[in-house]
Amino acid sequence: MESAEIHRRWLDFFQKKGHTVVPSASLISNDPTTLLTIAGMAPFKPYFLGEQPAPWPRATSVQKCVRTLDIEEVGKTTRHGSFFQMCGNFSFGDYFKETAIPMAWELCTTPVSEGGFGLDPEKIWVTVYLDDDEAEEIWKKAGFPAERIQRLGMKENYWSMGVPGPCGPCSELFYDRGPEFGEAGGPAVNDERYMEFWNLVFMQFERGAGGDKGGFPILGELPSKSIDTGLGLERLATILQGVNNLYEIDTSRAILDKAASIAGVTYGRDTRTDVSLRVVTDHVKTATMMIGDGITPGNEGRGYVLRRLMRRAIRNMRLLGAHGATIKDLVEITIGAMGQAYPELIADASRIVAVAVAEETSFLQTLRTGSAMFETVADEAKASGSAVFSGDQAFKLHDTFGFPIDLTLEMASEAGLSVDEEGFRRLMKEQRDQAKADARAKKTGHADMSAYRELLDAAGPSAFTGYHEVSSEGLLK
Ligand code: ATP
Ligand code: MG
Ligand code: MG
Ligand code: MG
Repeated sequence: MESAEIHRRWLDFFQKKGHTVVPSASLISNDPTTLLTIAGMAPFKPYFLGEQPAPWPRATSVQKCVRTLDIEEVGKTTRHGSFFQMCGNFSFGDYFKETAIPMAWELCTTPVSEGGFGLDPEKIWVTVYLDDDEAEEIWKKAGFPAERIQRLGMKENYWSMGVPGPCGPCSELFYDRGPEFGEAGGPAVNDERYMEFWNLVFMQFERGAGGDKGGFPILGELPSKSIDTGLGLERLATILQGVNNLYEIDTSRAILDKAASIAGVTYGRDTRTDVSLRVVTDHVKTATMMIGDGITPGNEGRGYVLRRLMRRAIRNMRLLGAHGATIKDLVEITIGAMGQAYPELIADASRIVAVAVAEETSFLQTLRTGSAMFETVADEAKASGSAVFSGDQAFKLHDTFGFPIDLTLEMASEAGLSVDEEGFRRLMKEQRDQAKADARAKKTGHADMSAYRELLDAAGPSAFTGYHEVSSEGLLK
């Protein structure tokens, strides 16, 4: 089943069950606690929190999501994309567990010829929260066999927003992909073989103030209980298309094949090559979707997430052997692959390509000038038996060639070296202090370049931590 068909069936099914179809919101989050939209429920948060009345009792959507937290997983696990689409059905104080569970079961197991996804019921496992007997009973009543229900704790099966407000247990659906994905025993044992594809969140209780993740006080049952579910469209496509991983589904495979043909490599022969191809596929798709939603590469926030994704894609193309410009072809093929679901990408194609190409041009220039020095230093370090790339040299790379520290860190790690980050930071600070002292000494009120220099420094290396700090997505689901 094609991704477009999954999309259509999802919305049709829930529309028939009385849900209002709501179009995907932008990837640019309107929630100040996250930079990017990370879940289907994000645009509806004010309704769940009771800040605004929900315009409808039930809604359904297919929401574009970007999770920076998952970037490190990309290409290594078979199931994480930095961009993915979350199919959701939502009840705002309307139906609860007794309806959400049977509906999910019905959609999964209704035959394809009758509008469902036609999954083999024997391959599905579910989890419920430790003490959620109620959810287990509802699953059993719906005809689900007790031996494939497992209980999981706070980390997997409890949801809260990290602040006082609604919270509650989850129940998740997993698909058994068979022994070629590892040992048996259910999702509690093996999360690659048993791939999570749908999370049902039951907003049942009220969370009080204080306490950290897992240890917060529960004030009592919510007077009005809600449902938030999220099914990963690309994960279901992986299952229904019978492919090995997320990067091989219909809306990704063309990108992967393009990357392989540009680089002149064959997919499926060598693990390192395959990981690089998947990283390129994923990152180019995410970058294209982000640019499509109006984000441009920059040194902070969303722009920095985009810049890093693009740089990693470009560097992986180089690792694969493609040293020239490749982004135009890759972005164009992505627009083709995603354009069916998002026709606005096609209408805006020339702008999206131009933004991506401009970033590639400037990054290739940085790489050209800095890489030779990096190689020399790395070779010298190795020849002298050291496993450390000196802070001094990392600083020089930054100062002379504009090499951001995150790039040095990544390249060093690929070369089996660590970087003396402390030394690097010390030198950066000295340079900043010197610039300030110079500015004070001059105090001429004109032509003072030190402030400009400082700005550049701040925008450069200091931004590297932002990659991991840019969102508080840990707070959601
Ligand atoms: P996992 O445990 O596999 O990382 P999760 O528990 O973090 O997934 P949820 O936050 O429960 O995921 O999100 C709801 C659904 O969205 C998941 O069941 C999955 O189908 C999908 N999903 C989550 N993260 C990703 C991702 N990085 N790539 C593709 N689909 C995802
Ligand atoms: Mg996750
Ligand atoms: Mg999970
Ligand atoms: Mg989950």
